[in-house]
Amino acid sequence: MRPLTATIDLSALRHNFLRAKAYAPNAKHIAVVKANGYGHGLINAARGLQAADMFAVLRIEEAVQLREAGFLHPILLLEGVFEMAELHEAAQLGLHLVVHDEQQLQMLESTYLKRSISVFLKLNSGMNRLGFKPDRYFDAVQRIAKIKYVHGIVTMTHFATADDERGIASQFVQFETTTAPFSYPKSMANSAAIIRYPQAHADYVRPGIMLYGSSPFADVSAKALHLKPVMQLASKLIGVQALSAGESVGYGQTFVADKPMRVGVVACGYADGYPRHAGTGTPVAVDGVITRTLGRVSMDMLCADITDIPEAEAGSHVELWGEYVSVDAVAASAGTIGYELLCALAPRVPIFMIE
Ligand SMILES: *Cc1c(COP(=O)(O)O)cnc(C)c1O
Repeated sequence: MRPLTATIDLSALRHNFLRAKAYAPNAKHIAVVKANGYGHGLINAARGLQAADMFAVLRIEEAVQLREAGFLHPILLLEGVFEMAELHEAAQLGLHLVVHDEQQLQMLESTYLKRSISVFLKLNSGMNRLGFKPDRYFDAVQRIAKIKYVHGIVTMTHFATADDERGIASQFVQFETTTAPFSYPKSMANSAAIIRYPQAHADYVRPGIMLYGSSPFADVSAKALHLKPVMQLASKLIGVQALSAGESVGYGQTFVADKPMRVGVVACGYADGYPRHAGTGTPVAVDGVITRTLGRVSMDMLCADITDIPEAEAGSHVELWGEYVSVDAVAASAGTIGYELLCALAPRVPIFMIE
């Protein structure tokens, strides 16, 4: 068997969930398990996050999978339904729906559902992606409240800059002002706002990335936040090359040795979800020693500098990210964020779960 595997540590998921709870002890926690549980496997993620009050997914199929696996938690569809048939299916499944625009609102107004549903009505507080603009929100709430089969309303918004130095200030004020006439429960905070802005915790928080042990911030590590990595992407060296000074490695010969070097060839490439943009110098651990990648990442392989790890040989253990190398460090080296790498884990990588 090809040695590349992803191992999902459920105890780390449980630990990170408790961290989220510690940050926002008075809120209900909607654990976000969209995108196949941020790449960890939807059901694996849900198992590790059983203590959550609710789950949030994007596609109705994911909600069906959770139900089929026996999870009875309330489930929120983060973008609501995409067509009328889904509205009826969602009601059958007892799902909670985001309603973010006029079309979705009209869908709800123009039908009758036997089972009552609950709605998270989204305010566009400045992200300008989804949600009703503030001047349309009052009217939208009134219309939703009139629909007989809607039995619960939560007001919600999503922050554009909770993770950087600009913070949530103007969006928070916009949300508070716009929802002031109502006494419905509120939901605002993603991971970044859970950690930095207790004033935005309100009734329901929506942690995602922090649960998977990656930091929502560019300038604070997951370790500093006491989050534990959940996914370990690990492989082995499948070959070793000795380079003389002047010899190069990989496509494009972008890395040229300036002295005699040893290079370990790792069974992991961009077809596995490892970022091709990660250039020479990206951290990688061989036999538990942190070293660097060399040259271009290819489809099925990448190369690691083992010049200073004399005991490394074909078969040596390699960690691409996990315990020794944070996914955020690899992401930074590739000019992206941990979220993208975790979600992009390719289906050909087998996922194992440990309790
Ligand atoms: C994905 C998502 C979240 C989770 O965000 P993180 O930054 O991963 O914590 C929360 N709310 C909404 C609406 C989302 O789409």
